[in-house]
Amino acid sequence: MRVMKFGGTSVGDPPRIANLCDIVLGALPLAPVVVVSAASRVTDMLLTAGRAAAQGTVDAGPIEARVKTLLDAFSLDHGLVEAELRGLREALGVIASRGEADAERMDLVESFGERISARAIAATLRLRGVDAVHADAFDLGMVTDANFGGAEPLLESADLLRAAIEALVAAGKVPVVTGFIGRTLDGRVTTLGRGGSDYSAAIVGAAVHADEIEIWTDVPGVMSADPRVAPDARTIPVLSFHEAAELAYFGAKVLHPKTIHPAVKRGIPVRVKNTFTPEHPGTVITADGDRSARGVRALAHKRGIRTVNVVSTRMLLAHGFLAKIFEVFARHRVVVDLVSTSEVSVSCTVDKDDGLDAAIRELRSFGEVTVAHGQTLVCIIAAGLLEDPRPCAQVFGVLADEGIPAQLLTMGASAINLSLLVPDAKGEQAVRALHRALFAAVS
Ligand code: ADP
Ligand code: ASP
Ligand code: MG
Repeated sequence: MRVMKFGGTSVGDPPRIANLCDIVLGALPLAPVVVVSAASRVTDMLLTAGRAAAQGTVDAGPIEARVKTLLDAFSLDHGLVEAELRGLREALGVIASRGEADAERMDLVESFGERISARAIAATLRLRGVDAVHADAFDLGMVTDANFGGAEPLLESADLLRAAIEALVAAGKVPVVTGFIGRTLDGRVTTLGRGGSDYSAAIVGAAVHADEIEIWTDVPGVMSADPRVAPDARTIPVLSFHEAAELAYFGAKVLHPKTIHPAVKRGIPVRVKNTFTPEHPGTVITADGDRSARGVRALAHKRGIRTVNVVSTRMLLAHGFLAKIFEVFARHRVVVDLVSTSEVSVSCTVDKDDGLDAAIRELRSFGEVTVAHGQTLVCIIAAGLLEDPRPCAQVFGVLADEGIPAQLLTMGASAINLSLLVPDAKGEQAVRALHRALFAAVS
């Protein structure tokens, strides 16, 4: 089986949907299983509608208009998604009556983006003669924990998904499955976190032992930097799971960070391709990647990072100090990315506010704590940084030439990544300049 995931832009406008149909038609001999996102912008619109409902305004109008325009482009009957639009209005009504947009209710609201998309795409494929059937992932066995807004699929999902999907494929059907959503064992709808359809595709792919998982998007593969920021970014033909995980984690939105894991465990290659240029081979991500690759491979960046600095003379010659600090972060479930220490200070970065205030209150008992906001984390993924010091020298040179101050420079022990922080206002300039310099020699 071949799992093919189509992201928001690929299911968000008629020419792209037409391409999607051609791509699936071409893959029929491979027994395709299609996983779809909500049409582009729809998840954001659903979130806006949910928040407005909490303020007393129930209005699904803009979402209905967007959905109906897409259906009309293929002359599809609006009745196809009537039940979902009704469900959405009801869910918004519940939020309005409670006066609160809590995570559980918001997950239900958000789920309708993918549910509508799966129905519309399956119907469009049927118009092209494909025996497609839509399926809500939870009806096929995607069961999750109750961590609304970032739910984790339960282990039993794999067997359930496999049995259900195999039965559909054996009956000659092409399943069109919702990405992003699941359901708790007691029947409450969950989402896997923003960008989570990639993760759904990887879970489905691992469950059915797919020969490959294809991620169809709006760029020709994983590129050497975000092409919206660095116009000279180029496709990386082969990446290792490790490199891709670092890139995804440090901000390359093209893949959800967790996507990689279920696929790695089964050794299933993940291929990232562009729906508009299907003939382009894109990027293939495999366990080993390109073992002969040397030098800088890619840049990733993430805005809005906070740095927490703890300064204490009590750290002088003390043991267990770091352990105490990280125990506080762990207890408050604050994820720390970069860490840098001196004899009297510890600095680290976190990318979310959740739990941070409480952690900081406790950290004050160890020393003086300051928090800096508005920084961009730039991560340079390279092969062989330990043997070749030139990329590091180049990075410092570029930042000096551009007059961009950097802090918290960190090179991981695996030596495949060099990370640093710059002010948000200079973040994109830093990425562009670093990309231009680091890749000039490569072309
Ligand atoms: P989809 O809706 O298909 O899931 P996303 O918007 O989530 O697509 O991801 C694709 C976007 O990721 C691209 O349009 C691009 O701007 C961004 N992106 C960030 N970093 C990279 C990178 N290194 N390579 C490719 N795309 C990247
Ligand atoms: N529709 C969801 C989002 O916008 C999931 C996804 O697109 O992957 O985050
Ligand atoms: Mg995405």
